[in-house]
Amino acid sequence: MTDSVLTIASEVRSGTRTAAATIRASLDAIAARDDELHAFLYVDDLGARAAAIVVDAAVEAGRDPGPLAGVPVALKDNLCVRGVATTCGSKILDGWKPPYTATVIERLVAAGAIPIGKTNLDEFAMGSSTENSAFGPSRNPHDPSKVPGGSSGGSAVAVAAGYVPVALGSDTGGSIRQPAAFCGLVGYKPTYGHVSRYGLVAFSSSLDQIGPFTNTVADAALISTVICGHDPADSTSLADGYPDLLGALDRGVSGLRVGLCSDLLNGADEEIVAKVRAAAQVLAAAGAEIIDIAIPELRLGLSAYYLLAPAEASSNLARYDGVRFGLRVEREDVAAMNVATRTAGFGAEVKRRIMLGTYALSAGYYDAYYGQAQKTRRLITNALNAAYTSVDVLLGATTPTTAFGFGDKVADPMSMYLSDLFTIPTNLAGHPALSVPFGVGATGMPIGVQILAPGRRDDLLFQVGAVLENGAPA
Ligand code: GLN
Repeated sequence: MTDSVLTIASEVRSGTRTAAATIRASLDAIAARDDELHAFLYVDDLGARAAAIVVDAAVEAGRDPGPLAGVPVALKDNLCVRGVATTCGSKILDGWKPPYTATVIERLVAAGAIPIGKTNLDEFAMGSSTENSAFGPSRNPHDPSKVPGGSSGGSAVAVAAGYVPVALGSDTGGSIRQPAAFCGLVGYKPTYGHVSRYGLVAFSSSLDQIGPFTNTVADAALISTVICGHDPADSTSLADGYPDLLGALDRGVSGLRVGLCSDLLNGADEEIVAKVRAAAQVLAAAGAEIIDIAIPELRLGLSAYYLLAPAEASSNLARYDGVRFGLRVEREDVAAMNVATRTAGFGAEVKRRIMLGTYALSAGYYDAYYGQAQKTRRLITNALNAAYTSVDVLLGATTPTTAFGFGDKVADPMSMYLSDLFTIPTNLAGHPALSVPFGVGATGMPIGVQILAPGRRDDLLFQVGAVLENGAPA
C-alpha cells in the first residue's frame, strides 16, 4: 500500500518529500508488477515526470500547488485526456485521441494531482470482471487467479496493488463499488449530478457517475471534494447544495438511524451477511440505532437496469459508425462499411447490449419494455425515499460474493449481471452509496459493506464510513 493521498499531499506541500520521487516510486511499482496484473492500458511515464517537476518547482518557489500536490492518480480509460488515446477497452476507438479533457481531470490537475495513466475496463464499462476488455483482463492483487471486479477493474487494481493512492472510475450500476469490494478498497458513487460527466465517454447517461477508489474514507472525501461541483459543460450537473464531506468524517454516528436492509442482504453469501451484521454492531456500539428494514422493490432493480442501461447504450453507441471515431473497416459503400466496422470493433457483450436496447426501444415493444422499466425505476426511487423517512441511511452488502475466478461467469451473462444486484438500485434512484472494506472471507478475499443515503446526503456516507473503517476487522 502506498501512503495516503492526505500524507503525500501534505508532505509535498511542506517540502518534506518531492513529487518527482513520489512519481518515480509509483512508476517503479507499476513496472515491477503490472505485466502480471494488467491494471494499465497506458502509462504516461514522461508526462507524469514532467508534471512532477512543475509541482516541485512551485513548492520551491513558495507557491502552493494545491490540496492534491504530487498525488499520482490513475484514470479509467473512458475518461478523456486531450491528445491521449482513449480506448474504453474497445477496438472500435482504435487510434482515437480526444480533442478535450474531462472536467474531473482538469480539477484534479488544478489541485496538484498528477495523472499517471489510463486503466483497463470492461468494454464501454459493460461488465463486472474486466473480462470484457478487448485488451485482456486485469488480475486481483489479493489473488491473481481471481477477477478484480468491473467494469472499473483496472482502477481498483492500480490502488489495491499499491501503484497509486487513488484512481477514478465510473459507476453506472456498481462499477466502482463492486471492484472496490473485491479488491479491499473504499469506493464511492456520488449523487447523480454531483460530479461532471463532461469528458466521460457515455454508457448510460442517466446513470453514469464518476467517483474515486482509495484506501481510506478520508482520502475518498478529499478527492471527491476536489472533483465535485457544478460544471456548466454538463447539463445534469447540480447547481449547488454540495454537502461537506470532509467535515462529516469525525461527526460520529450517535443517534443516527441505520436501516439494516434485508433486500441488500438476501442472496449474499453467508460470510458476507455475517460481515454486514458485524458492521451494524460496530455502528450500534458507536451510538447508532439499528433498525431492520425491508424494501422489496429493490429486487426489481436488476431487471429494470438491464433494459434501461442497454436502451441508453444503444443510442449512445450509435455514434461509433466508422465515420467519426477510431476504427474504420473499408467497404464498397457506407452502409456496408458501418456494418463491417461495428462487427469488427465491438465485442460480444457490447453487441448483446446494443441488440437488447434497440429491441426494448422499438415500436411495438417500447411500452412493454422501456416504459415498464422506467415505471419500475420510479417505484424503486419512491420506495427508497419512503424508507428514508424512518431511517437516515441504509446498510447492506456491496456484492453477493467475494471475487470470483476467471471464466466462472463468462458463459452465463445472467450470473455476471447478478454481481450488481445490490449496487444497481442507487444508480436508478440517482442516490449516493459508499463501499467500505470490512474484513475478509474464508478464502482471504476482501468483503465490502455498502452504505446508502438519500440523494444529496453524501455527507452521511462519510459520517458512517469513517466509523466503520475504524471498527473494521484488522
Ligand atoms: N456491471 C454493470 C454492467 O455491466 C455495471 C457497469 C457499470 O457500472 N459501468 O452494466
